[in-house]
Amino acid sequence: MPSTLALSLPAKGAPFTLTTIERRPLRANDVRIDIRFSGICHTDLHFGQDDWGGTFFPLVPGHEITGVVSEVGGAVTEFAPGDRAGVGCMVNSCGKCAPCRSGDEQYCTEGFVKTYSARDHDGTVTLGGYSQSITVSEHFVLRIPDALELDGAAPLLCAGATVYSPLRRWQAGPGMRVGVLGMGGLGHLGVKIAAAMGAEVTLLGRSPDKKDDALSFGAARFVDTRDSEQLAGLAGHFDLLINTVPAQIDMDAHLGLLGIDGTLVHVGAPGDPTASYNVFSLLGARRSIAGSSIGGIRETQDMLDFCARHHITSEIEKIPADRVSEAWANLSGVRYRYVIDVATLGTLHTSPPAF
Ligand code: NAP
Ligand code: ZN
Ligand code: ZN
Repeated sequence: MPSTLALSLPAKGAPFTLTTIERRPLRANDVRIDIRFSGICHTDLHFGQDDWGGTFFPLVPGHEITGVVSEVGGAVTEFAPGDRAGVGCMVNSCGKCAPCRSGDEQYCTEGFVKTYSARDHDGTVTLGGYSQSITVSEHFVLRIPDALELDGAAPLLCAGATVYSPLRRWQAGPGMRVGVLGMGGLGHLGVKIAAAMGAEVTLLGRSPDKKDDALSFGAARFVDTRDSEQLAGLAGHFDLLINTVPAQIDMDAHLGLLGIDGTLVHVGAPGDPTASYNVFSLLGARRSIAGSSIGGIRETQDMLDFCARHHITSEIEKIPADRVSEAWANLSGVRYRYVIDVATLGTLHTSPPAF
C-alpha cells in the first residue's frame, strides 16, 4: 500500500503527531493527488475537539485540498498526471439516490462520505488533507482552473463552495441585498463572491478592525453586530443573510434585519447547534430560516470557474506544517485562512510542537 506522511490527532485533546498513513492501491476510477496545499477550516477544529461526538481518532483533518495529479486508474477519463486538482469535503456517496443523480451529493439520502472522519463504503475510515497525498474516485475530484493559484484556491474547496451554494440557490445578484454574518474563512469569501455576483453586500461582524478589508472585498458597508443602534438602522433591509458564525447568535435581532420574504441561511455550525427564536420574528414579514451544507460536485466546479473568471481566491496565511497547532489556537486571528504548505511536511523530523 502506498504510504504518505500526515499530521494526525491520536485522540481528543492530544497534540498533533507526525505519522505515516496508508492510501489505498489505485482503483480503475481513482485519481492520486500529490497534495500541495491544505486549508485549515473551522470544521477541522470542531472535529478535533469532538464537538458533535463521533469523531474517528486518529484524525487526519483537511478538506480544502489542492495539488497535482500523480497517477490515474485505467478507467479515468477527465484527469491525467500533471493536472491541477482539488478535493473538498466529500470523497464518496451512493451515486444512485435522487440528490446524487441531480448533483446534490452533499444531500445523499445515505449520507455522503466525508473526506475525513467517516467510514467509506469499503469499511475504511477516511483520512484528510493534512498529508502528502490522497486517492479519490474521479467523480469527487475538482479541476483547478489555471487562473487560480493552488495556495489561494485551497480554501475555495470548502469555504468557497459553502457560501457559493446558498448565494446561487437564493439567486444573489443585482438588486439583491445580501448580508454576511462573520468574516472568517467562509465570510470573507461570501463577501467577495456575493459582490462579484452583483449583489449589494453588507458585512455584519464583531470586529471593526475588519471593516477596511470588507470594503476592499466588495462590501458596501460594515455593521458592528455588538452595536444595537447600528443593527436597528438596518431593520427590514436584507433579502438574504448568510450566517457563518460558529457560535450562537441573537436570532430575533438578526431576523428583524430581513425584509418581506427574506431568508436567513445558517452555514455556520456552532459547537452547541441549538437555536431559539420568537415565531413572531417570522410571521410579521413572511421570513424564512434555512440551512445549507457545502456544495455539490458540479456546483463546486461552477464555483471554481466563477472564481477564476472573477479573479477570486482566498486571503491566506501560508504556514509550515510545524505551525499547525498554533494555527488551530488562533483561528479567529488569521486574515482570513491558514493554508498548510504541505511540502514542509517532508522536512519535519519530529511531531509539530503543541501550542
Ligand atoms: P472562522 O474562519 O473561524 O470564522 C468565523 C468568524 O465568525 C470569525 O472570524 C468571526 O468573524 C465570527 N464570529 C462571531 N462570533 C464568534 C465566536 N463566538 N467565535 C468565533 N467566531 C465568531 O470559521 P470558518 O472556517 O469560516 O467556519 C465558520 C463556521 O462554518 C464553522 O462553524 C464551521 O464549522 C462552519 N462550516 C459549515 C459548513 C457547511 O457546510 N455548512 C462548511 C464549512 C464550515 P467577525 O470577527 O467578523 O465577527
Ligand atoms: Zn470546511
Ligand atoms: Zn446518494
